[in-house]
Amino acid sequence: MLRTANLKSTQSSAALVADAEARFTQSHPESRKQFSAAASFMPGGNTRSVLYYDPFPVVMLRGQGCRLWDLDGREYVDFLGEFTAGIYGHSHPVIRQAITEAMANGLNLTAHNVLEATLARVLCERFPSIELVRFTNSGTEANLLALSAAKAFTRRAKVLAFKGAYHGSVLSFGKKGGELNVPHEFVIASYNDIEGARKAIRECAHHLAAVIVEPMLGAGGCIPGSPEFLRMLREVTEEVGALLICDEVMTSRLGRHGMQHELGIKADLTTLGKYIGGGSSIGAFGGRAAVMNLFDPRQPLALHHAGTFNNNVISMAAGAAGLTQIYTGAEADALNARGERLRQRLNEACARKGASLQFTGLGSLMNAHARSEPIVRPEEGDEREQTIKALLFFHLLERGFYIARRGFIALSLMIGEQEIDGLVDAVEEFLERYERLCCRSGLDA
Ligand code: PMP
Repeated sequence: MLRTANLKSTQSSAALVADAEARFTQSHPESRKQFSAAASFMPGGNTRSVLYYDPFPVVMLRGQGCRLWDLDGREYVDFLGEFTAGIYGHSHPVIRQAITEAMANGLNLTAHNVLEATLARVLCERFPSIELVRFTNSGTEANLLALSAAKAFTRRAKVLAFKGAYHGSVLSFGKKGGELNVPHEFVIASYNDIEGARKAIRECAHHLAAVIVEPMLGAGGCIPGSPEFLRMLREVTEEVGALLICDEVMTSRLGRHGMQHELGIKADLTTLGKYIGGGSSIGAFGGRAAVMNLFDPRQPLALHHAGTFNNNVISMAAGAAGLTQIYTGAEADALNARGERLRQRLNEACARKGASLQFTGLGSLMNAHARSEPIVRPEEGDEREQTIKALLFFHLLERGFYIARRGFIALSLMIGEQEIDGLVDAVEEFLERYERLCCRSGLDA
């Protein structure tokens, strides 16, 4: 089997990918049928762009623990974990109980409820930069509100963001998606470029409302911001009187008290989402009381922020149960240590083979890049990089491991050493299978 595949790797990149897609098509007839049916009612059968890939995406039927089963009855270890929101795995008993209890007490109370105050307290106690917090339905919304709050607070118009960063479906600074962005006056700087970003901030000076930054670019490829870069952002925003917004929608799980705390930084506003709802839809923005108090409805000129589902009992109950009973500080340390070890093992496997493939990231989050040089900011990647990512994805699917098509991996608490060993073996097998491609700079030579 391996030998045959190795021979095949003398094929062109296009042929290798076509082969992988053909094998996928053949082994996923039910996903294909479902996808065609869905395409009659949703554009391209899709309502979440990130999940689409050619020739058609796998359709999952159910999940349990750290496992997923697709419509064709194939089983996978879930190494994607809902792009970080699925930290508790599938149907964790504590989360189930919290949701069941919330449902038993009525889903739509149409009033303040007790659970929202509980989750708010849990978040304020856990994340030191958050003195007061408000809830939204998604991370996108949390960032939209944080930016609007910063503009209202500073009475300034400009927002500095970083090239390649993703802060939501209408706050996307990568190659695709930006055309749908909300029309703020954005200034774009380069991630991890200390001098460049400092200069850009100073140039805007008194027109700058906020700098929005992820301490590690998540969707941008798990590229950590250097401590010096992030500390500079804190200092220079203070100097010009702009607010620093830390988007910790993904990264807050990377430390007991979020990632900024690990770096000794306190943002003016912090945004959260993903796992803090226990796997249900959620977002939150919070920070300095002076800024958040703009939303205090007891004030005559209070900013208005409504939202039918902002305090929905399912997300509030599941979120609080997860953070207090499952993902405690000690568990955060343990999960991130497990992730560091996995990333190290994957990188060692690549180095042993001399492959120009590496896994960047921090703790339980990582991303494959088919390049050898240190990665400090997002780049498109050439044809070889695109090919390797496609082949890695299909290879891992064939071997029963589900990661993101772009090479992103997020560990859930349900993943154990056995699953981790399995993934490392499967990646080693990939390096063997596509040795010529991974270990040479040229492709079709
Ligand atoms: N910010 C970051 C850093 C994210 O990773 C995401 C989602 N990938 C968002 C914001 C948007 O969150 P949501 O998908 O809940 O709108």
